[in-house]
Amino acid sequence: MNIETSELLFREAEEHIVGGVNSPSRAYKGVGGGTPIYMERGEGSRFYDVDGNEYIDYLGAYGPIITGHAHPHITKAITKAAETGVLYGTPTALENTFAKKLKAAIPSLDKVRFVNSGTEAVMTTIRVARAYTGRNKMIKFAGCYHGHSDPVLVAAGSGPSTLGTPDSAGVPASIAADVITVPFNDVEAFREAMDKYGDEVAGVLVEPIVGNFGIVEPKEGFLQQVNDLTHEKGALVIYDEVITAFRFTYGSAQQLLGVEPDMTAMGKIIGGGLPIGAYGGRADIMEQVAPLGPAYQAGTMSGNPASMAAGIACLEVLEQPGTYEHLDHLGALLEEGIHQSADSHGLQIRVNRLGGALTVYFTDKSIENYEDAENTDGEKFATFFKKMLEKGINLAPSKYEAWFLTTAHTEEDIDQTLKAVDQTFAEMAR
Ligand code: PMP
Repeated sequence: MNIETSELLFREAEEHIVGGVNSPSRAYKGVGGGTPIYMERGEGSRFYDVDGNEYIDYLGAYGPIITGHAHPHITKAITKAAETGVLYGTPTALENTFAKKLKAAIPSLDKVRFVNSGTEAVMTTIRVARAYTGRNKMIKFAGCYHGHSDPVLVAAGSGPSTLGTPDSAGVPASIAADVITVPFNDVEAFREAMDKYGDEVAGVLVEPIVGNFGIVEPKEGFLQQVNDLTHEKGALVIYDEVITAFRFTYGSAQQLLGVEPDMTAMGKIIGGGLPIGAYGGRADIMEQVAPLGPAYQAGTMSGNPASMAAGIACLEVLEQPGTYEHLDHLGALLEEGIHQSADSHGLQIRVNRLGGALTVYFTDKSIENYEDAENTDGEKFATFFKKMLEKGINLAPSKYEAWFLTTAHTEEDIDQTLKAVDQTFAEMAR
């Protein structure tokens, strides 16, 4: 495969942009480095790089692109917004339309606020929880990514119930010390943390279906117990649905799972591909936020007409009948085909899948938490990733990132992908 132009562009980028990229995972660190492919054009399930190579895309821009690239309905909405001015700094009717649409889809949202990224949304829910409870400590689950704000770039301490340590240079130890990290799907560890620190805990941050060490569903009853134990101590449950909102159903994971948080953070899909974040929840909690309450949060770009228009248009596409059935159908075909190929070539893999999102792990063990995902074979994944890319299949460059299907993917795409998988597994088994 010729990637000469990508190589030239990356060399140029390294001179001007730190690390050559504007988000670290794009530099292929998760697969041992290499030249990132520079894409030039996307259409539906496919995109095309600067050297003229064509790919079937399963990265989905790390989640937001669920209707395929350049979906005509979303493109039209963005074009119209561009023609009438993309930013006013005043309220627009689009914000009301979108807020009502989100609330209709996710019943736990009494009030919402639009921001510009998932990071901002989560960061603000933490502030609001602290303002509402008058407490400082937070609990999060190991391996769950919640954006790059200080309080969530925190690793577990030395035991399941110890205070956190900074996971990035520049995060003050004093901030990390207010964050407790426990393993996902481990009720006992959570109970222990709550017994020890519960009276000081403002909120518990949860990815209700994990998307950040692959697709990992909660065990039966786990989220309900987290809710109960959290509320017993007077703390708030915050769902980070930045990946999961509108991914598996028209609405959020909380509805699929039948549990309701006090606050929810969203992003990705709800922007239709443009920058967005949103948070919302119970009215008495949300009324902590300025201008009504003492918790400050603002944004020059927040609720901008272009992101609003794209988000509304994206939800209009998703609410069409059959959307999630289509995603699930293709997801099931992919899962089945991958298993068949792995079996026939004697490779040990696990596939975690929900609807149109799945993760292929190189391991023979089931994946229930971050440690399980960490212990899968990264070298095998790196080989798989590179061989798939050469065959025109674009995956996320990480051993536990999800493959995201879109409404634009077809059975032909799946056939072509499964042929590439089979060939790749054959090469790997040799
Ligand atoms: N929360 C979750 C669950 C995420 O997956 C991400 C991004 N991958 C974020 C928050 C941060 O979102 P953003 O990159 O838009 O800041």
